[in-house]
Amino acid sequence: MTQTTDFHSFRHGQFDITVLSDGDIALGGEIFAPEGNAEQRNTILHRLGGEGGTANAQSNIPLIVTGNEVMLVDVGAGRRFQPSEGKLEDNLRAVGVAPADITSIVISHAHPDHIWGMLRDDGSLRFPNARYFVGWTEWNFWIGEAAGALPKELQPFVEGARRDLMAITDRMTLVADGDEIIPGMTVLATPGHTAGHISLVLEGDVPLIVTVDATASEIVSFEHPEWSFGFDMDPELAVRTRHALLEKAASENAKLLGFHWTYPGVGRIEKVADGYRFHGLTSKAVQS
Ligand SMILES: [Zn+2]
Repeated sequence: MTQTTDFHSFRHGQFDITVLSDGDIALGGEIFAPEGNAEQRNTILHRLGGEGGTANAQSNIPLIVTGNEVMLVDVGAGRRFQPSEGKLEDNLRAVGVAPADITSIVISHAHPDHIWGMLRDDGSLRFPNARYFVGWTEWNFWIGEAAGALPKELQPFVEGARRDLMAITDRMTLVADGDEIIPGMTVLATPGHTAGHISLVLEGDVPLIVTVDATASEIVSFEHPEWSFGFDMDPELAVRTRHALLEKAASENAKLLGFHWTYPGVGRIEKVADGYRFHGLTSKAVQS
């Protein structure tokens, strides 16, 4: 792989990981912290470098290389969702990887910013040679009646999820909690953000947990784990899941990689009196 950019790369166990980006999305305080008051929301937006009532949420997509596998976790939004997104393919090419080189893709959940990059404008698969791993609960939810019964304003999400999931049925493996995707990479069910949201645990000196949207904000998810995130579809379940995930991460001193955190979205957490504190790792610290 030719490293021609300053994307953040680190080695974890047997995995070479480069955090790519699909772009960012401007979100308001009511999304970052639905339960926060006006002052708390403003403080959060300010700490995230936001202005004018919004702050940017990143889209950190890890490229994971090990043995013959060249893997991605999620495929980004393509150009179907927000104009600031859809940069994954260009960024992948910038590190010397063509879409056809991708061997495996894990889909964490079927929200637009994670799956709508599945197809090109002509309807062909963006990553034509990949096999896909999808949580079976997530699959059942979006394909089944539950998604059809969602409110009208969420139906575009349902149509998009069905379009992209149906496009990969002949190359898809459905997975559940504890399943091994490849040696050293295991599914961790983290439901609540969506019905079948999954995270990944990668073996190393300590575990690396790719939490995706189970911890959507590096501020709110840790300092206020009892608060929901604006796009949590089952907020109560999401909160229970988050508490369990944070307890596990803190007790195992795990490294965490979050999808929407300030780039590169890698760090550790520490348990403190009233929640957790996030320590983002610099490039140097992660490699050492
Ligand atoms: Zn997301």
